[in-house]
Amino acid sequence: MQKKSKILYIMGAGRSGSTALSVFLGAAKSAIQVGELTQLNHGNLAVSQCSCGSLLSDCICWSQISCLKSLEQETQERARTLEKHINIFKYFFAYKLPSCYQNFHEELFSEILQHCDQERVIDSSKYIGRALALNKCDNLDVKYIYLVRDPRGVIHSFAKNVQTSRGLMSACIYYNLVNFTAEIISRTLLKNKVLKVKYEDLLNDPKSVFQNIANFTDLDCISILTKIQTEQFFDIGHIIGGNRLAKKASIQFQSHDGWCDELPLFKRWIGYFLTFPLNLLNRYKL
Ligand SMILES: [Zn+2]
Repeated sequence: MQKKSKILYIMGAGRSGSTALSVFLGAAKSAIQVGELTQLNHGNLAVSQCSCGSLLSDCICWSQISCLKSLEQETQERARTLEKHINIFKYFFAYKLPSCYQNFHEELFSEILQHCDQERVIDSSKYIGRALALNKCDNLDVKYIYLVRDPRGVIHSFAKNVQTSRGLMSACIYYNLVNFTAEIISRTLLKNKVLKVKYEDLLNDPKSVFQNIANFTDLDCISILTKIQTEQFFDIGHIIGGNRLAKKASIQFQSHDGWCDELPLFKRWIGYFLTFPLNLLNRYKL
């Protein structure tokens, strides 16, 4: 029987800190973080770049992954469809995954682990559709972190004029949709496979959060905590996609969230009340 590839998948809304968490987790013994692998299904891989600045075909890491060279456009298109938010409801029924999706992803994760000589891949794609599709692959052993952040932090991040920006209303609608869906999926289709992590807990009490992650997975997180305690930098490595952090060579753990000083008062109030049921659930206070 083929050995299942181990994956730790980070899901949740954009701007919730998934890239930073993924980079921290990449410092765990026997783990490799590779960014948002869903981006491999978007666009032309021949001109896609790694975070190191090289084309994937020239990168010392990604050029070794042979299944990328034979990835067909049709497989990419089917993957994009499968991972769309709108298709999430299909997974509640007896939904069979197309073999091209399953074969490509099983090969991809197996090759990454083999090439990097590690035991678990950290995929920070965030998409819930992808989380469910990977869960259906026979030879993947996937565990999930559902990362949630205070909506005011997400609103503040979306207001910055970098990557995709969103206005206050749009950010609140998006936040509600993604987080309600993640809550439902975590309690149904992915029951017992999801660890919920609050971004604020990660900033305020990283020791407890990484201890929980270590208990939930088989990751040894001691090296992560040592780096945080000694204020060392975390290498970004060779990642796909990710936010502006991915453009840096390394990042440092910071316990302060900028929105607390910078978000205007009226946006805090409106944003808080427009996402109120989730704030009650997640115990975010006004
Ligand atoms: Zn690279």
